[in-house]
Parts: sequence; structure tokens; C-alpha cells
Amino acid sequence: MSKKGIITIIVCALISSIALFWGYETFKSPQELYRVYLSGKTIGYIKDKELLETYIDDEQIEIKDKYKVDKVYAPNNLDIIKEITYNKKVSTEKEIYESIKDIAPFTIQGYTVTIKGIIEEDGTVTSKDKEIYVLNKETFEDAVKTTVSVFVTDTDYQNFINGTQPELKDVGKLIEDIYIQNQITIKQGNISTEGKIFTNSDELSRYLLFGTLEEQKKYTVKSGDVISDIAYNNKLSVKEFLIANPEFTSENNLLYEGQVVNLGLINPLFSLIEEDHVVEIQTQKFNTKIEYDSSLLVGFEKVKQQGVNGTLKVTKKVQKNNGEVELSVITNTEVIKPAVNKIIVKGSKVVPTIGNPGVWYWPTNKPYDITSYFGYRWGKLHEGLDISGTGYGSPIYAANNGTVEIARWDKTNGYYIYINHNNGYYSVYAHMKELYVKPGQAVSMGTQIGTMGNSGYVVPKPTAAYPTRGTHLHFSIYKGYPYRGGVAVNPLRFY
Ligand SMILES: [Zn+2]
Repeated sequence: MSKKGIITIIVCALISSIALFWGYETFKSPQELYRVYLSGKTIGYIKDKELLETYIDDEQIEIKDKYKVDKVYAPNNLDIIKEITYNKKVSTEKEIYESIKDIAPFTIQGYTVTIKGIIEEDGTVTSKDKEIYVLNKETFEDAVKTTVSVFVTDTDYQNFINGTQPELKDVGKLIEDIYIQNQITIKQGNISTEGKIFTNSDELSRYLLFGTLEEQKKYTVKSGDVISDIAYNNKLSVKEFLIANPEFTSENNLLYEGQVVNLGLINPLFSLIEEDHVVEIQTQKFNTKIEYDSSLLVGFEKVKQQGVNGTLKVTKKVQKNNGEVELSVITNTEVIKPAVNKIIVKGSKVVPTIGNPGVWYWPTNKPYDITSYFGYRWGKLHEGLDISGTGYGSPIYAANNGTVEIARWDKTNGYYIYINHNNGYYSVYAHMKELYVKPGQAVSMGTQIGTMGNSGYVVPKPTAAYPTRGTHLHFSIYKGYPYRGGVAVNPLRFY
């Protein structure tokens, strides 16, 4: 190699090392920067983390006003990690602030309340996990108290908490336990301003009770409306109605026309369990028993013994879930007054309803007097016998087995009866004082069907001074239906 060549190499090496050194200074020196990630994706590098935080805090005045907080924080999905890095483009803190402010919600300090759902032993999911955001714990605690008071009265709850429940002397209720079945955790941290943050405990208690913040269905009361009807027509129990409308204390409360009531269906976010020991007096309704007596006719019915309700003292364990009884177990029953059965005696003897055409029963007491026989009288056929002498109110008997066809009153016959003997013959009894049978009733021969009287058209007529004048039984027997195709026969032919 020539001398000139060696010099050239040295010069070149020198130049390149200078260039190398210079380049290291300008392009390759390491820097301490902050890499900003949003939801795991890099959105840039900044020099000053605190400056970005200050931007956020200074610019978000609206959030501060809305929630009355002093400080606004970065979004929950924003991560700022310190890095020693080379040759990276550095953004200004303002640029990064601008790029996140419209896509990620800022956060404030608060609490995340998690109400764990309930999974039954068999795996059924009764309720799902719910997350609620509050600025302070008191808002949640107050809302729970208000919601609990819907299901347990304040006095009961305070007495239970303080161990000052009045002693159970005779009857009444002793609360054994009250608890929320769901596991509830409260965690402090940054909460997103995008979702609902509760600052008012009344609003939160409505959410806890109805499970929604949506406007509840309303109803305007019309004239004549009562609470039980409004509840029923809107598929609510009276209890649910009263919970949704705490201004009412009972279904008997009066409504006024134009009053607006809430028809919201409650769907509490937690299960409040109340376990009670209850002792109460119960009325035991009496049972009714029927005894059959074969010596009495079918159709006969008489109360042999009146029923009397009994009284029991019942002890039970009751478990309520949000005010609704879920479980009730009777653990003891003491009879204070036993119930007395009502006993009805019914006749079971079947009445023969077919008459015997050869044997007839005389329809009145004996002795009697026939005052008008079967036959023509003044050019007209008298179609039966007029029997008297046994007295006003004396018994009239069915002349044969049969079924009562007619038993009623009309102007001519007075109180009268037709008996169908179910063998082609009918018998007729007129001018009676009282009727003891009804149409359709089976009668056997000799059964009393009424009493002798003077109702209808009789000669001579009764008067105020002689009210029993004209008393007699007009008695006829027809082959076929009386007066409608039937032929009257002389009753004396059968006796
Ligand atoms: Zn007559």
C-alpha cells in the first residue's frame, strides 16, 4: 500500500467515526418518555405525565360542576408507562388530551358497589350481579335503609338491631333474623363518568326497589276507583301497589278523582330475608257432615247439629323475601276451642213413584163428610168429590204413589196440587190452605201434601167474621192429564 493510500484510509476512518459520534449524539441518545396507551393501544409519547393529568383536571369543569367534585382523573382504560426510548416522536400533552377526550370517559373518585347475584343450590340463577356507582358510601347506605323500610317497619328493624324486641307474651311476632341474602362489596376507586353515578339516595333507593330508572307506569284515578281494583286491573297485588305508592297505608284508603298513582312493578336488586317466629290465633272453620237415614224419604233434609268454628293457637316459622312469605312451617298447634261439625241428616229411602191402580189412600182424615158427589149438577159434571168435616187446617194426603206435577195457586182452585201417578192416573187436590210439596217431588201414598182450606172459588165464601166458611177439599181422579184430554173418573170407584 502507498503512503497516500494509508492516509486516505485514516482520514476516512476519522471522518466516519466523527460522523458516528455525531449521529449518536443527535439520533441515538436514549430519552425518558411516557408511553400512553388507551385500551392497550399506543396513542403517543409524552414528556410530562403530570402535565397531561393537569390538562384533564383543568379542562373538565363540566364534570366537576355536575358531580361537585374537586378533581377529574384520566379514563380507567388509559395507561401511562414510563419508558427509556430512542428516536420516538414526542407529542405535546395537549395533543394527547385532545385525542382522548372525545373517545374515553374521564373518571372521578367514588365507589363501585357490587350486588352479587344469587345462584340457588340447583344452579338456578335467581339474580345477576349488579354494579352501582356512588360518590360516597352514605348515599348507598341511606338508600338501602329506605329500601329495607319498605319491607320491614322502622320500629321492628330498630328493635331487632338493638335487641329490644318486646317479649312475646301470648301472640305476636318475634323477628329472629333480618339480612340481605346477596353478597355486597363496596370498592373505592376511579369511576367512569359515562355511566350513572348516584348522588341522591332517594333516587338510588327507587332503583334498588324497582330495578330500573325508567319512568314507571302511572294511572289517573277515576270516580269510583278503589285500590284493590286498580291493582288487580294492572296485574299488581295490593301489597305491590302499596309498596309502589307508600303514601297509602291500606287498600281501604280513599282515592280522589284525578289522583295519579304509580303502577310500577317492584323488582328489588337484593333479597331482604326476614325470619320470624309467629304465634297467632286462628279460626278453624267447622266441617259439614251428612248422615243418611233410610227411614226417611229421599229429599228429606234436616240440620241435626249446627256447626261451630273452633279456635287454635298456632306457632310457626315464617321466612319472607322482600316482604313476600316464601316459607311457612307450623311448629306447634294448640286447640283452644275445638270445632264442632255441622251434621245434616238426609233421607235415603227411595219413594215408589208408580201408583197402584188397585189400592188408593183416602185423602183426608176420617171421619169426613162428602158434601158434593161426582156427577152432574145443574147441567154440569162435577168432576170430583167435595170432602169436608175434618176441619180447616186438617191434613191432606197423597192418594197414591207419584210425582207432584203442579203445586201452586190460582184464582179458581186456590192452592192446588196435581199428582202424576205414573200409571196413567192423575189426582187433583184443590182449595187447600197450605202446600207441603213442590213440583217434581216424589210422594208415596199417605204422605201429607198440605192442609184443608177454602182458597180459590168456594161456596159459600169465607168472610172476615167467618174466615173458615166454605172449607172443603175438591178431590178428583183423572185417567189422562186433567182438563187436557184426561177423563174424570168417580173417585169412589177406588175406595
Ligand atoms: Zn168440587
